[in-house]
Amino acid sequence: MEEQYLENTPIPKGHFYHGECQTGDHDVYMDVICPSTGAVYAKMPIATKEMVNLIVEASYAAQRNSDWATRAPRERAKVLYQWATLIEQNQTYLARLEAIGSSRPLHEVLAWDIPYIIDTARFFAELADKHGGYIGATQSNHLGMVIREPYGVVGAITPWNFPLSMAMWKAAPALAAGNAIVIKPSELTPFSTVYLAKLAFDAGLPSDIFNVVLGSGRETGAALCEHPQINKVTFTGSTQTGSSIMSACALTGPKPVTLELGGKSPQIVFADTKDLERTALTIAKAITGNAGQVCVSGSRLIIEKSIESPFIALLKKYFEQLSPGVTWHSSTTLSPIISQQQAQRIQSIVDQSLAQGAECLCGGTMFEGFGGAYFAPTLLKIQDEQNIALEQEIFGPVLTIQSFESEDEAWRLSRHEVYGLAAGIHSANLDRVMRGIRTLEVGSVWVNRYGRSFDHIMPTGGYKKSGIGKDIGVEAFEANLRSKSVLLEFEEKI
Ligand code: NAD
Repeated sequence: MEEQYLENTPIPKGHFYHGECQTGDHDVYMDVICPSTGAVYAKMPIATKEMVNLIVEASYAAQRNSDWATRAPRERAKVLYQWATLIEQNQTYLARLEAIGSSRPLHEVLAWDIPYIIDTARFFAELADKHGGYIGATQSNHLGMVIREPYGVVGAITPWNFPLSMAMWKAAPALAAGNAIVIKPSELTPFSTVYLAKLAFDAGLPSDIFNVVLGSGRETGAALCEHPQINKVTFTGSTQTGSSIMSACALTGPKPVTLELGGKSPQIVFADTKDLERTALTIAKAITGNAGQVCVSGSRLIIEKSIESPFIALLKKYFEQLSPGVTWHSSTTLSPIISQQQAQRIQSIVDQSLAQGAECLCGGTMFEGFGGAYFAPTLLKIQDEQNIALEQEIFGPVLTIQSFESEDEAWRLSRHEVYGLAAGIHSANLDRVMRGIRTLEVGSVWVNRYGRSFDHIMPTGGYKKSGIGKDIGVEAFEANLRSKSVLLEFEEKI
């Protein structure tokens, strides 16, 4: 079954540039591991600095010499629409590629990720001709125009947790605004992004306007950020890497950066929440979806003491029903952890948390007997506010539980020293909800629901060390444009 699955899904062999998938003469190769099985399923070239130079220079030339930036915005939009159509037509292959290489279950990729990226491409296509500059209030013999122009070549670095969606977040607004883009996907999940770029080329994008360079973060990623022909960098990944990238961009630019970083998001449940069962299901899904490997995972439950016991019982019931397994089985409801190393990190934080006094209510260890790493959904009841599991982004299916007796205590516990990505408030009391929205220092607040939707108009991004700037929404589109100030002087009298 496994071999058949792999045989039917040829893996793209290299970087994508000059309209083709190809490798460089001096590339060295690294093994790429299937998270579901723990087995090596492909080799990936690691681009050297010379290779990065070649690919970026090709994009730079294409952005200047092709008509991509200057053609009518509605014509650019048509290419993005056609790209969306080709993704739809090739979704079976694309979804398989994503499922083999990442932690995303095939049925979820088909039901969520693929429709999501198609919709994202269409959303930004629609924005292509819906922006403009303005005329300034200048002296009467001047005409002052502020015009918006693309940056040139945008460099993008993406993480492994939702490879297709993250690539689309970066590519669609950059392309709609007339930029070229070079993406370096995570070395753990490189191939679906290559195919996404190929489909954009097939849709009519000029050669080298969307290139993909494969490689490690330190070597290839750093070379991409530092390249002098990259005028803007957009990154999604950990806060630590985001800081390194920002420093590199400051030293070698300076050039603007958009950073979508880590989180430690609270879910605050009041006793007046309308439907306890429905709320418990929302909370459970928000920490076990993609096995908790989601930047906005609702990883800290902050719950009113009077409903804590029945709520925990509901969570446990849901957790125990989840079934780990390879991503291409329809019965799989719990994703693999992306790598053994990441699974060991989760285990280490859970162990340290228990040693510091946390109480494990369920889970706490990896499932035995699988090739890949699967971590049991875990509930940790915690009193000590300094506990490591409350402080660190675990990026696994681990939910901490703290209880409160007053509204003030709920908001106080929700605050995180470092992160401010998202938060959920579950309450039927509108006054309380409004107080929470004002109090929480986070980039997204979800009320009586949790997580992003297909409403691409809603931007996403963090406060504090969870990020700078936004993906999705009009803000993401505008972040791909810079302003030129034009002052024209004329004689008022003949
Ligand atoms: P990571 O920071 O380890 O790696 C992300 C990317 O950066 C990879 O492509 C990697 O190769 C590259 N990289 C690493 N070092 C680099 C360097 N010095 N220069 C240039 N590139 C470098 O993150 P990850 O483990 O792939 O992803 C998980 C993290 O991403 C979590 O912290 C998660 O919260 C975050 N994330 C955030 C969002 C958001 O919207 N805020 C979305 C998804 C993931």
